[in-house]
Formats: sequence, C-alpha cells, structure tokens
Amino acid sequence: MNAIKCAIARPGLVQAECIEMNENPDLTAQYNVGSVPHTIFNQGRHDALGLLPEERFVVELVYLKSAEDLLAEGNLPKMEAEKTASGYGTIEPGEMDLVIIGAGPAGLTAGIYAVRAGLKAVVLEKNIVGGQVALTPVVENYPGFSTVPGKQLMDIMSEHAREYLPVNEGEGVESITLGDIAAGESITLTTNRGIYSAKAVILATGSAYRQIGVPGETRYFGRGINYCASCDGYLYKGKKVAIIGGGNTALTDALHLKNLGVDITVIHRRDSFRAQKPLQDSLAREEIPVIWNTAVERIEGDEKRVTNLQLRNLKDDSITDFPVDGCFIAIGQVPSTDLAKTLGVKIKEDGFVEVDTAMRTNVPHVYAAGDLTGGLQQIVTAIGEGSIAAMSAFEDISQPYWKE
Ligand code: NAP
Repeated sequence: MNAIKCAIARPGLVQAECIEMNENPDLTAQYNVGSVPHTIFNQGRHDALGLLPEERFVVELVYLKSAEDLLAEGNLPKMEAEKTASGYGTIEPGEMDLVIIGAGPAGLTAGIYAVRAGLKAVVLEKNIVGGQVALTPVVENYPGFSTVPGKQLMDIMSEHAREYLPVNEGEGVESITLGDIAAGESITLTTNRGIYSAKAVILATGSAYRQIGVPGETRYFGRGINYCASCDGYLYKGKKVAIIGGGNTALTDALHLKNLGVDITVIHRRDSFRAQKPLQDSLAREEIPVIWNTAVERIEGDEKRVTNLQLRNLKDDSITDFPVDGCFIAIGQVPSTDLAKTLGVKIKEDGFVEVDTAMRTNVPHVYAAGDLTGGLQQIVTAIGEGSIAAMSAFEDISQPYWKE
C-alpha cells in the first residue's frame, strides 16, 4: 500500500507493482518470499518485511537501507533534533481530552464512546487498524455475524470509528510523560509525527505474538517461520507445514490452512487441547494429524529457508526430525506493556495490566482495555472494556474523583 501511494505521489520517480505471489511462484522463489507484505526495492537492493509505518517506508525507499541501519549510522533525517522522536516528520502538536493508544476492538470502541460523550479524542496506532483480530482468518463468535473474516470485521469497526474521530495508522507513541494531573497538568505523548497533550490516556496496546525462543526462530522469520496464517497461509498451498500450539488460534489457523490446501500437522506440547470443543471437533473431522506431547527444540534450514524441525517427545525425551516447508507458531500472546510500565502502571503477576472494574489503572487518568488487561481476551470483552474505559475517562475529566 505504501509503495503504491509513493508511486501515485511521485510518478516520475517511483514505479510500483503489486505481485500476487500465488500466481507468480517464480518471483516468489527468486526473491525468497515467505511472508507478506514483503517489499522489494530496486530488484532486491533492499527489502522490507512486514508493514512499515508510512514515514519509515519513505525513508527506507529514499535511502534503500533499513531504518535501524540508518539510525545506527546517525543518518536519519533530522536525527539531531531532540524532541521530534524519530524525526520522520512532524505535525502540529495536538491538544486532546483523550488519547487512545491502539486501534484494535478496544481502542476503536473507546474512541466511539469518548466522542459520543463529548470528548475530543484521537486513536493512535503504530501499525494498521484491527489488532490481532485483523489477522484472524475467521471469527465465529462475534454476535450478529455467524462467520466473518477478522479483517472484514475490523474494517467495518474502523470505518464506524472514523465517523467520529481520527484513527491515525502508522503513528506509534514513543514516549509518555505524566504531568501533575491533580494540579491540572496534562499527559504529554511524543509520537513519530508530533507531540500531543491529553487530559487522559487509554492504553489499548493489545499483545504481540509469543515466540518459542528456540534456535532458528528469528533467523528464519519470514523465510518459513510465520505467525499469521491469514496473512501468509496461501504461500504454502500444497506444501508441508507444521503449526505449533493447542489453543483457539492454533486450531483456527490449522483449519484455515487445511482449507487453503496446505498439508498441515499440529504439534502440541501436551496430550489435550485448550481450544474450544467445536474447533477440536472440526480438526478431527478434517483429519488433521496431531503430534502430541512434543516440543520444537530447534528450527533448521538451508540458510535461505526452513527445511526441518527438530522435535523432542516430552514423554520419552526422544528426538526426531520433522521435515517441513514452513511452520506457523500460534502459542499465544504477550501483552504489550512497555508504555504502561513507563507510566508506572501496576502490572499483575501474570504480566497483564491491573485495572479496576471501571478500567482505571493505579495511575490517575490512565485506563487500560482489551488484551492488555488479560482475562478472557475475546473481541466482545475488548469492546466492553473499551467502552467502560472511555466512560470512566469522561467521568474523571469532567468530575475528578479525587476532588469529591
Ligand atoms: P492460548 O489460548 O494462550 O494458547 C496458547 C497455546 O500455546 C496453548 O495450547 C499452550 O500450551 C501453547 N504454548 C504456550 N507456550 C508455548 C511454548 N513455549 N511452546 C509450545 N507451546 C506453547 O493462545 P491463543 O490460542 O493465541 O488464544 C489467545 C486468546 O485469544 C484466548 O483467550 C483465545 O480464547 C482467544 N482466541 C479466540 C478465538 C475464538 O474464539 N475463535 C480464536 C483465536 C483466539 P498449553 O495448552 O500446554 O498451555
């Protein structure tokens, strides 16, 4: 999307082509693509895996280098400027009642409720809207939709939210400073585009994929190791693939991959699944093989791509090889608590943010909602929490509870 935007904005300088990998296996092989989106610049002089914020994409397009390399070299434009975080660009500082961080179900719902309550609000999202749901192939337990692709559900939700407030994709919060809220000072948020001051903040930063942490996992990420079946599954049509995990995600993804024509095997560390019964029944009906009581010990490849999983049977400790073309890892999520920790928000023993029933954290005017708070971690609970957080922010801004 960023490449096409650049080509439209600078037709004399940039040409872009969108390639359907399934229909272009030769190009897929030539550029060693194992995950999408994968942007190849100047016939492979530079490439970028995954979705990059727009400003970062443009910097990499101009310099044909990763932003990390440019940063290490001290060569990012305006890097010397202290306050504008990464210096990709600036917008006018925004004064807000409420800044919502994260545009998953919790953040988008919070936005709708906040603006309907009369607050001036913005949703900031460092990636693209939708959070984890947008990466879920099919959602079957969101009331009103008996079955709906996760991406489609989130498109509908974000369109609805945008009727009320700006939802800024590619705008990550890089630092937050708390003022003396009781004395009427604001919270200052620096993003890659500018500085906001806000009377309240809702953290809806969700969670990120948990990694197994075995040798080869990072090395082969995007080269056979994947975390998102709905994004990358079709690259493996007709190929032999393993999926690791025994929860709802692993089984939903396994069924999706099977449906795409992937030769899929589930590998799980115990002898029973924690996934819901209907998913287990579907897995059995589809005759998807399961290797029980087994952990991945090491991920091996030929330097270009994954070729083999070294497995350990946890009952008898035996080691076996499991040759694969790819492997999807679906072993849960880790909450994205970095910003919460910066603010001094209390984190529970299980690593999730502690909130009260009104979604207030221990820090005045800072709320949390969605996967970040742990618990059931469903779309419907995220939505409920988002709405509660917004109403609590509204109450606290209009009637500070410590003044009662
Ligand atoms: P999850 O429910 O936490 O399950 C994670 C799975 O990975 C578990 O089976 C766990 O094994 C296994 N695991 C964890 N760490 C591992 C490791 N280091 N090595 C190997 N295996 C490991 O995560 P999830 O499936 O991603 O689901 C997250 C949340 O989203 C849940 O609340 C889930 O209900 C929800 N969700 C719902 C739907 C739906 O309703 N359709 C779909 C997707 C997700 P053990 O079982 O042995 O602990």
